[in-house]
Amino acid sequence: MEKVDCIIVGGGLAGLSAAYGLASEGLEVMVVERGDYSGAKNVTGGRLYLSPIRDIYPELWESAPFERPVTRELVTLMGDGASTTLELASDCFATAPYQSYTVLRARLDQWLADQVMEKGGMVITKNRVDEILVEGSKVIGIRAGADDIGADVTIIAEGVLGLLSSKVGLREEPLARDHALGYKEILELPSSVIQDRWHLNEGEGAAHLFMGEVTKGMMGGGFLYTNKDSISLGIVVGMSAMRERKEKIESHTLLDAFKELPQIRPLVEGGTLVEYSAHAIPEGGIAKVPKLFGDGYLMVGDAAGLALNALLTVRGMDFAIASGFYAARAVADAKSRGDCSAAGLAQYEQSLRSSFVLKDLETAKDIPHIMENPRLFTHYPQAVSGLLEKLYTIGPHPSQKLSSTVIGGVRKDFMNARTLKELYAMRKI
Ligand SMILES: Cc1cc2nc3c(=O)[nH]c(=O)nc-3n(C[C@H](O)[C@H](O)[C@H](O)COP(=O)(O)OP(=O)(O)OC[C@H]3O[C@@H](n4cnc5c(N)ncnc54)[C@H](O)[C@@H]3O)c2cc1C
Repeated sequence: MEKVDCIIVGGGLAGLSAAYGLASEGLEVMVVERGDYSGAKNVTGGRLYLSPIRDIYPELWESAPFERPVTRELVTLMGDGASTTLELASDCFATAPYQSYTVLRARLDQWLADQVMEKGGMVITKNRVDEILVEGSKVIGIRAGADDIGADVTIIAEGVLGLLSSKVGLREEPLARDHALGYKEILELPSSVIQDRWHLNEGEGAAHLFMGEVTKGMMGGGFLYTNKDSISLGIVVGMSAMRERKEKIESHTLLDAFKELPQIRPLVEGGTLVEYSAHAIPEGGIAKVPKLFGDGYLMVGDAAGLALNALLTVRGMDFAIASGFYAARAVADAKSRGDCSAAGLAQYEQSLRSSFVLKDLETAKDIPHIMENPRLFTHYPQAVSGLLEKLYTIGPHPSQKLSSTVIGGVRKDFMNARTLKELYAMRKI
């Protein structure tokens, strides 16, 4: 059997990050990616938080094909018939070094694959791995078509569903309740239109999240990110929330309905659809992170459940890149010691535990449970918009004092036993 130092299953950001680290150390590394090119099958909403990973491969980020730094944050709470938008334009987001950038995976992943190959790594595309080869308790390589390829270490970077790894018992089968489903369109718009529509200075970008009616009150939300000359527009909905909904609805129709909303129609007007995608997202949090290493293997990125939806921030790409980086370091060290057993690779999990990856997931451990409460997507967006609607209304009768309106609204919608209990539970997040 042909053998290399390390095989990587999947050429997304996690797999490529690991490959870049290993190739930089001079190890023989082979990435096997089923897509026509890296980035062809990869979906994200669109914003990479660079701050947590700036010191990881610092030489890469100056030339990375980012779209726009995010300088404007917007969040819209959508009630039935009224919505409230909060907009934050902060100098600290508008000043370099920028904390986050919008990205297009078809460009970013392809570029990272090129960097891997420049360092001497192999990226084999249009090839599907059919099986992870296991001998006893040890992963010894992969089968792709008629080829068996051996490796001292196999890095599993196959993404969210983990079909190959669950088949050989390295992680659980994916469950609907731990996942959301995302639909996304990329709509081309001239850069000047983007800047005018989102009140941006040249080159700057906006990130806009939506909660509430946009998912018909189900767990999830909408997103809109501005790229250089396109916008990424999409919707994410919890798989269980969809399945358990009494009035059945085809999930993909949520995106069409989103585009038709009066708040969204003017934002997407004139846009040309250039890409449509759908993808699952891990949302189980740290409780669903599988065993991260064993004899001859490591798990990285979405395949290891390393993603975090914290309502106002959605992260996965920074975790993918960081986990790939720490995986590469662990493999290089294990190889230099000649010990690629579980004991030899254990440093990988220790590195993740002392980095932001597992620390942030641990901090957010209660979020998946809190997000199961449908009132977060029904009652609260409605209550906030309802209260503001009252404050802005001048009717035919003499007005109340502002404070009386506020106190009345807060008492009605926020000061009852149920809401107080929910708000108390939210202290954990
Ligand atoms: C709608 C949506 C919105 C999101 N928004 C954000 C966001 O704004 N910010 C953020 O940071 N994160 C976001 N995420 C999460 C983020 O996109 C992921 O966490 C990230 O893409 C994970 O990267 P990965 O390399 O682990 O997995 P992937 O990018 O999924 O890569 C896995 C790769 O493995 C390949 N593969 C799978 N099986 C095989 C096989 N058998 N043989 C060969 N190749 C195989 C696939 O083709 C793919 O290229 C979002 C995700 C979605 C779906």
